[in-house]
Amino acid sequence: MQTPWEYRYAHRTQKMGSSVIRELLKLTEQPDIISFAGGLPAPEVFPLKEFQDACNAVLQNDGPMALQYGATEGYRPLREMIARHTGRYSVQVCAENVLITSGSQQALDFIGRVFINRGDHIVVESPTYLGALQAWNAYGAQYISVRADEHGMVVDELEAALRVGPKFIYTLPNFQNPSGTTLPLERRLKMIELADKYGVPIIEDDPYGQLRYEGEHIPSLVMLDSQYRNDNNGTYSGNVIYLSTFSKLLAPGLRLAWVIAPPEVIRRLVMTKQAADLHTSSFNQYVAYEVAKGGFLDEHVKLIRSTYKERRDVMLEVMDEMFPSEMRWTHPEGGMFLWGIMPEGVDAAEVLKTALERKVAFVPGGSFHPNGGGENTMRINFSYSAPNTIREGITRLGLTLKEVLARNGHKVL
Ligand code: PMP
Repeated sequence: MQTPWEYRYAHRTQKMGSSVIRELLKLTEQPDIISFAGGLPAPEVFPLKEFQDACNAVLQNDGPMALQYGATEGYRPLREMIARHTGRYSVQVCAENVLITSGSQQALDFIGRVFINRGDHIVVESPTYLGALQAWNAYGAQYISVRADEHGMVVDELEAALRVGPKFIYTLPNFQNPSGTTLPLERRLKMIELADKYGVPIIEDDPYGQLRYEGEHIPSLVMLDSQYRNDNNGTYSGNVIYLSTFSKLLAPGLRLAWVIAPPEVIRRLVMTKQAADLHTSSFNQYVAYEVAKGGFLDEHVKLIRSTYKERRDVMLEVMDEMFPSEMRWTHPEGGMFLWGIMPEGVDAAEVLKTALERKVAFVPGGSFHPNGGGENTMRINFSYSAPNTIREGITRLGLTLKEVLARNGHKVL
């Protein structure tokens, strides 16, 4: 039934419908379900004691300032720390290159507000991060999907997309959400070169870059771009807007993230942020700075890495044992997700229904593809559940897959 409100909503809300998958995922919140659906960090690694001590120290030493309104750009010592940290990877940036946001999700929304006119084309790898699509759909974005393989975006196919004249390229080079893939150095260099050739900026979304469990660190696009243009006067003024977050390093409940961009882009984003929420929580910024300032994150990230590596390894081991041989999946070198691929024609939404009967959940992959496809894929999170729960959940999922594949006429081995 239509209510009088239906006529009052702005056009931009029309694409905001709740998907069938969202409805299914609500079921995953039941306590007896083993959920590999969310993108949640392990609560066991939250540094509770450090937060407790930091809250006390902040209230004692800077209480009134921490509880006061603050600068839209963010708490200066925190911005300087982020600039120094980014400098460790040899991108020369200063505090003027840094904006603190209330999560990277907010940064994605602001990027939409600042750059996207209705009908603008955005280049994405397919599959891509659903939250970015949700943010940009509201601004009337259209997407040009570039195929991704087990190494991320197939950059050889990027040039055709750039000829269409897109507003920007959105990419997740490290341990991608949803697929877990990592873009190799050669592809990164080629992307920088092509973006420069066509004058198209790159949005580099990197929440997981530090969560590497094997292999060598690969330089970020922002760093490669700054090298490419010999941009080393201490202020980055290149072609990449880089996003990262404290959500996976400290705690997502903080809602604390940062953008690195040329100062003129930062100024536009600051105006947008002023209108949206004035600034990110002062108290949270002070506390995060207090926790991180003595080098705690370098130590803490080791704990996160070893915890998640163990969980990933257990998951891969049980998948090898329990999944039907018709299934393929990625072997992520880091991050929080892996990507399962079923034979063509098998629908992951149907698998999810059966999986929920066995009390196990994942996210069907179709919705990560803005232009369709991927119905036979699934995103599986390995960071949240403890190893024994992973064993049990993957065993149940393996049985589910065998059942559904057999139902679809596959000879299951
Ligand atoms: N980008 C990507 C690729 C993500 O996976 C996430 C978190 N799921 C975000 C952005 C949003 O992170 P935040 O918690 O900082 O808003």
